[in-house]
Amino acid sequence: MSLPEDLSREELETVQFERLTELVNGLVSGNSFWKERFAQVGWRTSVDLVAGLNSLAELSQLPACDKRDFVADQDENQPYGTNLSESLAGYTRLHQTSGTTGRPLRWLDTPAAWANLLDAWSQIFRIAGVTPEDRFAFPFSFGPFIGFWAAFDGAVASGHLCLPGGGMSSSARLRLIEDNQATVLCCTPTYALRLAEVAREGAVNLAQGSVRMLIVAGEPGGSVPGVREDIEAAWGARVIDHWGMTELGPIAVECVEGPGGMHVLESECVAEVVDPDTLEAVPAGVQGELLVTTLRRTGSPVLRYRTGDLVVADPDPCPCGRSLLRLKGGILGRADDMITVRGNNVFPSSIEAVIRRINGVAEFRVVIESESVLDRFSVEIEPVVGAAVDEVLAGVEAGIRETFNFQAKVSAVGPGQLPRFELKGRRFVRK
Ligand SMILES: [Zn+2]
Repeated sequence: MSLPEDLSREELETVQFERLTELVNGLVSGNSFWKERFAQVGWRTSVDLVAGLNSLAELSQLPACDKRDFVADQDENQPYGTNLSESLAGYTRLHQTSGTTGRPLRWLDTPAAWANLLDAWSQIFRIAGVTPEDRFAFPFSFGPFIGFWAAFDGAVASGHLCLPGGGMSSSARLRLIEDNQATVLCCTPTYALRLAEVAREGAVNLAQGSVRMLIVAGEPGGSVPGVREDIEAAWGARVIDHWGMTELGPIAVECVEGPGGMHVLESECVAEVVDPDTLEAVPAGVQGELLVTTLRRTGSPVLRYRTGDLVVADPDPCPCGRSLLRLKGGILGRADDMITVRGNNVFPSSIEAVIRRINGVAEFRVVIESESVLDRFSVEIEPVVGAAVDEVLAGVEAGIRETFNFQAKVSAVGPGQLPRFELKGRRFVRK
């Protein structure tokens, strides 16, 4: 049997359908959240399922769900809601969302579901080109954010030496990496840049250090050209983009052969790309919202979950030869993060790509003030110490004008004036 990531399209769909029917059969009797939703489409018993769910395409009968459904369910049925396939005693892991867009959502896992997540990570490592000799460093705080918890456990299970970097300063983390000759770093793109900045301040040359690969997640940055190049230059290492969510687990990763996109782990989920308004499938090459059904997060699965993330399915085959769905350009952004400037919809990641192309930018912040019809848009730049400030500002201004066709107010702030982040950056402020 081939590895799950190397299956042909037909074999993959067979695996997906087997896993889907097994999942749904389990939920129809034991999970009250899904039992109720299944009843709406006539799936009440295993007998109904034989007739009602006889191909992958039949999944689309089920209405889509989103975060609000689970928040409402947890509000009504505190603290964990009703999306539970077992009694509470069967769960061993708790994570929660950051709560940046409302109340944090709590998510529980059973040991079996968690083991499946670790399996997904072993696929990610293979696709990313991790070798048995690689040593991993995890410079992030091990709180309830799912972040790299599963990656850590997954790397341990795959036999790698793993360095936990919780509760440490950035410079202590850099020492940990160097002292132990870590070769793979898992963090957000923002924090990869922050560590590089701290290294520069301490006259440490990361490009000559031991790290050869950074697996980044939590933000679109890993697939944003300017951000990616800055990280790769500072670390002298390859960036591999990865995407996952608390509610889904690890779902997508860039392959070694095809930078600038991510493969979806389709043995772990069913992914659909749909029009965000009509929820009808869109063809490959057309931007749509990613809808995910998790097949092996059995203790608390989601079916046809609206991620809010906009993607384009790559119509062309990937140079790696895998038949897995490939998201061209990675995660493009979230529909609700879109910024409207002079009538144009712009993703924050596109603005970041322009700013990061300019040499000498240490950090930046974009302030958007809604004022009558025209949004006011200003950019604060914190230049790298010693950079020619006027040149940096002029470069950013010209980059924005040429790319988006509008004039932004660009100003400079002093060293250390803008916030730094250990997890996701918050560089876009609406007033
Ligand atoms: Zn590929």
